[in-house]
Amino acid sequence: MIGRRPTRLAPAVLLASCGCSPGVGDPATPSRVFDASLPSDASATPGDGGGWTTLDAMPVAADGSAADLRLPWGDGQAGVALAVSASPFQCFQLDSLTDDDGVVYVPPDQWGAYCTSCDQRVSVAAGGGLFVLPSRAGTFQPAAALHVRFALRDCVTLTESTTTTDAGAPAVFTVRERPLGPPSTHGTVSLRVIVTPASVFYGPAADAALAAVNDQLSAVGIAATWGEAIRLPATAGSDATFSRSDPDPLLPLLDGTTGTGATIPVVLAGCLLLSDPLAGTPYEPLGYTPHIPGGAGPADAVYIKGSLCGTPQPVAENWTAAAFGRVAAHEIGHYLGLYHSVEADGTTDQLANTGADNLMNYDPSVSTATGLTAEQGEVMRRHPFVSQAP
Ligand SMILES: [Zn+2]
Repeated sequence: MIGRRPTRLAPAVLLASCGCSPGVGDPATPSRVFDASLPSDASATPGDGGGWTTLDAMPVAADGSAADLRLPWGDGQAGVALAVSASPFQCFQLDSLTDDDGVVYVPPDQWGAYCTSCDQRVSVAAGGGLFVLPSRAGTFQPAAALHVRFALRDCVTLTESTTTTDAGAPAVFTVRERPLGPPSTHGTVSLRVIVTPASVFYGPAADAALAAVNDQLSAVGIAATWGEAIRLPATAGSDATFSRSDPDPLLPLLDGTTGTGATIPVVLAGCLLLSDPLAGTPYEPLGYTPHIPGGAGPADAVYIKGSLCGTPQPVAENWTAAAFGRVAAHEIGHYLGLYHSVEADGTTDQLANTGADNLMNYDPSVSTATGLTAEQGEVMRRHPFVSQAP
């Protein structure tokens, strides 16, 4: 153990209570429907494992929502991944999710960062984000087709928004879809490690600390691999002050590459300062993942704090390999679709057998926060960036 214990890890997203509940509703006939069986571009996107279909751009109507997107459900299909982008600085949510029989998985107009009681838990995205369904363990078998509707959200209040882009142009959503099969029992995930100059890992190799990540992930059949760490130039910036609605200050830490394929960028940053109007005073999270799950959107990566904020010279966060492994695996858990097993206010995830004594505790630096469950592994291995073992 070197130096002081890291400070409390802040939640990756703010809590929200939306009071929604899953159930069977009246399958109102959508007035505007895009049928995803007629893609505008069926070509796979290179480098991301293939299988993605780019759908027609969907304009946002005056009420802030796009048309219902009908996604036919194929034989043997067990899930779906949707990579969605909006205009920069526009926040949005998967606002409604039903199927052809009118089963409601996400009722519309649920405000907050995410819905705590919806059948499917989805998170507000800023500028872009990946949505993976189902968000929980177990079977998910919609009738014939899913109906998905995206709608804008106010980035601060997390309620409805009808804002157009900064340039005054109408907003549009662009969607890429990838059907998912059932997750296998084992998989691998590739990390792309980027080290900033102020990180404690800038000099010494980070392999021992990264190996500790696998100490956590191996319990759920996931093996992380990484190549040689990319060290940013000594003159490069290491610090970022950012907010949920403005992740752009994180971009310089990404070595100029985002969305390069099915790898998880892991940025060993310097000072991370998260400013959020609803959270009051800016705070220094030990780790940060912009969206649950990760995989799309601006500044998409896992960020790990490497130095203190507000010091004249960098003061390194003195990670032990074990402590780093727990926090990094926790953030990779978010990236692969896991919510906190328990939040500071007692809110829990959707999974069985997860509690405060789980790696996904909102504060993974507490000594009892260790281990992942079989259901968490099922969710994580469903993520399209996890290569399925044969
Ligand atoms: Zn977290």
